[in-house]
Amino acid sequence: MTMPDLLNRPLRCMIDGQWHAAAGGATIPVTNPSTGEVFAQAAAGGAADIDGAVSAARRAFESGPWSRMPPAGRQRLLWRLAELIDAHADELALLEVLNTGKPLRIARMFDVGLSAECLRYNAGWATKLQGATRDVSLPGNWHAYTLREPVGVAGLIVPWNVPLPMAVGKIAPALAAGCTVVLKPAELTPLTAVRLGELIVEAGFPPGVVNIVTGLGSSAGQALVDHPGVDKISFTGSTAVGQRILASAAGNLKRLSLELGGKSPVFIFPDADLDRATDAAARGIFANSGQVCAAGSRLFVHRAVADRVFEGIAERARRLRVAPGLAPDAEMGPLISARQRERVLAYIESGRAQGAELLAGGAALDGPGFFVQPTVMVNTRADMTMVCEEIFGPVLSTFVFDDEESVEQLAARGNDSAYGLSASIWTRDLGRAHRLVRKIRSGVVRVNAAVAPDFAMPFGGVKLSGWGRENGREGVESYTELKSVAMDLG
Ligand code: NAD
Repeated sequence: MTMPDLLNRPLRCMIDGQWHAAAGGATIPVTNPSTGEVFAQAAAGGAADIDGAVSAARRAFESGPWSRMPPAGRQRLLWRLAELIDAHADELALLEVLNTGKPLRIARMFDVGLSAECLRYNAGWATKLQGATRDVSLPGNWHAYTLREPVGVAGLIVPWNVPLPMAVGKIAPALAAGCTVVLKPAELTPLTAVRLGELIVEAGFPPGVVNIVTGLGSSAGQALVDHPGVDKISFTGSTAVGQRILASAAGNLKRLSLELGGKSPVFIFPDADLDRATDAAARGIFANSGQVCAAGSRLFVHRAVADRVFEGIAERARRLRVAPGLAPDAEMGPLISARQRERVLAYIESGRAQGAELLAGGAALDGPGFFVQPTVMVNTRADMTMVCEEIFGPVLSTFVFDDEESVEQLAARGNDSAYGLSASIWTRDLGRAHRLVRKIRSGVVRVNAAVAPDFAMPFGGVKLSGWGRENGREGVESYTELKSVAMDLG
């Protein structure tokens, strides 16, 4: 397999269409989580680089060609970028696998395939955003209407679990809305962001419209959040950092979208298609090694079928081929870092210390990579640390419910979490499904299906899972402001 050419070039920041080393000259090591080896260095951008990037984005927004480009021009550029992603899909997938360890087949189909689709979906919105005329009741003769305008310069901060879709998922709606952007990728996963920057130049976006500053959260990320020239921050990551960003953004009252953590419940009733439900529950916690914000990490199963479902998931866990992403038969890769592996193992240990038992997995794999076995735990209780906190790893907590429990009581058990991102319900009883949907406190619910992304469907959470929605009309409109205009016609 030939290595991507990107690895022969320095990984730099893209500011105003030009590639720069970090102003301070520092770099951050890039590690392959399948082997533990450092195989690249990326620019460790800081406050000076962010300042340059924000200034470039401001110029492009206020006075550059972007400010005069009609919506159809933005649409064509977004579509062109989607085509370039398709044309370089194998290369982008390989970069993602080297940087995250995820199976190549999944990176190709999911991470890269969805990124191109996301651009095409949002390209369509560029020409469909609009204000509306209003019939006002003021005395006189009025022409009143709203204008929907881009919010300005958007700072986009993304995590490492699905680096390319996360970056594209923020860039695409922001550009469709007419904003200019500064992207800050996660320090652990800069590769596809840098390659995306090259493709953005190739697609023909004017300089300054997209700027990319790789670097640490505490320096580059914090500088972006603090910068008075940034009008909006869209952040995906941990709740703790989201809370810090909220405080920092107070300075100029930046608009905020926060997509944060989750601890999502899955409910399986005895009348469900149990094979499908069991499969989906297993995928819902083991996909991407559990490093998914909407992972179904708390499973509630009716007593009549609980043993069958728990054992079914444990069986799938034992059979899952855990291997480096480049192994042809890999089904689950490593965790992103040694730190994340230690964190996940500590949660499993804390669960055992508090009385939970292992039905499958529970250990790290021998070897240099950051692998943890897919893990199913039983006898878990709502007050255990591993049940209350987001693990962000392949660890399932399981619970049993009985006939005596009402929909309200069951919903209360599901809602017994600081988070409220997503939920899945498996039953053929439509009335029960609808009643439970209404009682669940989360931004997303799926019935007889796992939580999978669709760009038409708003995505986001309540409670500590965040603010705002991405995807759909709501996602693009979150990069706009409404201006209310009324003209006295005399
Ligand atoms: P993180 O919050 O540590 O980092 C996320 C991003 O924020 C990174 O780019 C990081 O560099 C940056 N950052 C860190 N400190 C910052 C600061 N002070 N100011 C500005 N930026 C800063 O999260 P992580 O460990 O990279 O990702 C895992 C977390 O992300 C999990 O908790 C997971 O639930 C969450 N997540 C949520 C979603 C969602 O859509 N809700 C999706 C994926 C991941």
